[in-house]
Amino acid sequence: MKTKFAIVLLLVCSLPNCVVAQKFNRAVSFASNFEAPIPHPEQDKLAQEKLAQLKAKTGKRPNIVWLIIDDMGYGDPGCYGGGAAIGAATENIDRLAREGLRLTSCYSQHTCTPTRSAILTGRLPVRTGLTRPILAGDKITKNPWADELSLAKLLSDAGYTTNLTGKWHIGEAVGMRPQDVGFDEFYGFYPAQKEISQSIDARRYPDLVLNPELLEDYYDIGANLNLVHGFKGGKTTNVSAIKSTEEMGRADQVLADFTVAKIKELAKSDKPFFLEHCFMKVHCDNFANPDYAGKSKAKYAFKDNVWEVDMHIGTFMETLKEEGLLENTFVFVTSDNGPQMDAWPDAGYTPFRGAKGTTFEGGVRVPGIAYWKGMISPGQESDDVFDLMDLFGTALKLAEVSYDKLPDDRFYDFIDQSSYLLTDQGKSNRESVYFWWGSVETAIRMREYKLHTKVILPKSKNLYIDMSLLVDLGLAPWLFNLYIDPKEQTTVGHRRNAWLATIGGQLKAHLKTFKKFPAKKIGLGL
Ligand code: CA
Repeated sequence: MKTKFAIVLLLVCSLPNCVVAQKFNRAVSFASNFEAPIPHPEQDKLAQEKLAQLKAKTGKRPNIVWLIIDDMGYGDPGCYGGGAAIGAATENIDRLAREGLRLTSCYSQHTCTPTRSAILTGRLPVRTGLTRPILAGDKITKNPWADELSLAKLLSDAGYTTNLTGKWHIGEAVGMRPQDVGFDEFYGFYPAQKEISQSIDARRYPDLVLNPELLEDYYDIGANLNLVHGFKGGKTTNVSAIKSTEEMGRADQVLADFTVAKIKELAKSDKPFFLEHCFMKVHCDNFANPDYAGKSKAKYAFKDNVWEVDMHIGTFMETLKEEGLLENTFVFVTSDNGPQMDAWPDAGYTPFRGAKGTTFEGGVRVPGIAYWKGMISPGQESDDVFDLMDLFGTALKLAEVSYDKLPDDRFYDFIDQSSYLLTDQGKSNRESVYFWWGSVETAIRMREYKLHTKVILPKSKNLYIDMSLLVDLGLAPWLFNLYIDPKEQTTVGHRRNAWLATIGGQLKAHLKTFKKFPAKKIGLGL
């Protein structure tokens, strides 16, 4: 922690508010290598009874389905204030929110790879080294996955069938692919949409696409841009290459067809399943599927793609219903980070400050909808904090995987949120959400407060990635009360807030975990 910030803490600690730290911080540690949860014994008991009753009825553990949209903003779905009001209705996502639990303080990491790795490892990217995409040509010193234990592996070992359809983005070399780290089957793309489309879209990238020599150099880097089909311990094949923007526009339909067929196949099995469907959309560059162009009222490709993603979610839910799986399947819909404003107007919407690439709310607060017919009551909503990493701990609970299966030589950041999600008016079991920018700690949220120790500021409008600065702060950290200042515009500072020392103390305790369990370095340089 910075010296200047430590001085402020010392000053504030001389005030009486320090003595109430235990009450403000409700978490209770149960092991030195796990994030401490807030105990809710009554809620835990209710959730446990619900799960036991369901198992007695179905005779098997529940299925787990994650639907991950790429770069959708908090404000894009109708149930979060967007939808038809901003030119792209999202009737299926809205219905899931109405019939399930809508989270309004659900947090991702600030970009794609960190979120995707965190939810599958239950650990902050800074701990695993999976802080950014590992690109062809990157000279990493070790395979970060080599000593990580993925949720897919844990569930697979526990008798689940595990599938990942769509975007991966957490390493494409042998040993880092979904089928190498625990998934039984992978059908999708290793990179994001733009990494594929930049070699075929002559309108946006003429300097590359229309220059054969440069294009050859680009392909020589060795990135795999194909649709890939791989099996654990089996064959991995390149199914096809995207050769046009029209084909790119159709990619999500191909992936959705695969997932629908897979759900029907999995429904016939006695085994429970874990299915993670990762849309390519709505990451830039967006090309409308030619079959759906103009379906949104706004007509922009981004908006048509929001409409399309929503339609596929509707189809998945209909398929689960037709196959009789709804009552025994936990479904979670989210986005892996905030909108990428660098690509505006090919970008989503957030009502908050910042965007993808920053740890302001605009970059990390995302839609989060939990749906489970009969297990989550309709019409629930909560502003308690939820970190997408908590999906890891929640899945372990649903699959009855004991923490004994987790190695004790590393720190786990997830919280089991099953009791929060499954009880009416449930309370979050998480006390704090920690924000990192690569290997740099930048912020913490506790209750309605968000404290920044460093900020990422754009030097040009909307360029939060391509022209931004990571900035040290002055004498005091920036502290916002998100209830009165959700856009993080006016810090309440150390003069007007009694909790600064307590929140700072929580952050210090978090940083201390890295002393006993050092962050893994893989040579990515961020
Ligand atoms: Ca993303």
